[in-house]
Amino acid sequence: MPDYVLLIHGGAGQLPANFLTAEREQEYTQQLSQVLNKGKQLLMAGAKAEQVAVEAVALLENCSLFNAGCGSVLTHAGTFELDAALMLGNRRSGAVMAVKQCKNPIIAAQKVLYNSVHNTLAGPEADSWLLTQGVEQAPQDYFLTEHRLQQLREARQKQQVQLDHADNGEVQQLLNSPLDESPMGTVGAVVLDIHGELAAATSTGGVTNQLPGRVGDSPIIGAGTLADQRSCAISGTGVGEYFIRYTVAADIHYRMLFKGQSLAEAAEVVVNQQLPAGSGGVIAVDSHGQWTMPFNTSHMFRGVVTADQLKAFIGKDESLI
Ligand code: ASP
Repeated sequence: MPDYVLLIHGGAGQLPANFLTAEREQEYTQQLSQVLNKGKQLLMAGAKAEQVAVEAVALLENCSLFNAGCGSVLTHAGTFELDAALMLGNRRSGAVMAVKQCKNPIIAAQKVLYNSVHNTLAGPEADSWLLTQGVEQAPQDYFLTEHRLQQLREARQKQQVQLDHADNGEVQQLLNSPLDESPMGTVGAVVLDIHGELAAATSTGGVTNQLPGRVGDSPIIGAGTLADQRSCAISGTGVGEYFIRYTVAADIHYRMLFKGQSLAEAAEVVVNQQLPAGSGGVIAVDSHGQWTMPFNTSHMFRGVVTADQLKAFIGKDESLI
């Protein structure tokens, strides 16, 4: 059986000092591992990269620990606006921006890919169209968790836009400098299946206290999401404004294509030399099964499945990467 690879992330950031108790660490690791296990079963049974990427992201959207689907962060208006994108190695893609009623925005993105002639649908009109497509709906309070409400109260009080996993240091400066308001906590998956196909999927609630209508990098092809059989599949997480301005995923792809850089080299340069420190990270796998998960924050919730390993990580001190 050819090699398969599944990488997932659940957001990157600077975790507040006392956030990662042993109990929380276990909770996050367990959730990530469950998704990895499910992905492994599917991949071993011959599932396509697309199915595995969508199912992995949908599971993460359903878990209230992460900033996507249920558990998403709130906008300044106290509402939820969700973004997601799916891209396949054959360059087909679909995305939704600022939708409010889809239980699983990644499934909405997949509907856009197959059932419309467009790449991206946004806002209330997207919600109306998705309803006609039979996409499962959820009321806004389905997405609400006490933890996110508290984050919004704090952010409003400080008049800040906040990353999901942010302390008051470097990342806050990035988020709150006049031009650079940004997020973290997003989920994503990239897959190479046993047929040699690639797929990338990303889903997010955005940034706490963001202006209604703000859209980050996650649903933007070439910024937070990209797949191309000639190079790799990428899903990013971090300060979306930077990922857009640095066209992060496209930069990695073109470095591989036109500069002959390896995936690891290209991703390392973009994440650790181009992007500002503290702005985020990516997960990426190439069509030969090489993979990498660089990040320039203190933490990135992430995990890997290959034929011979299954492991979830949070901090920097892991030797595997
Ligand atoms: N990149 C996402 C955004 O800017 C947030 C995140 O990664 O947590 O919307």
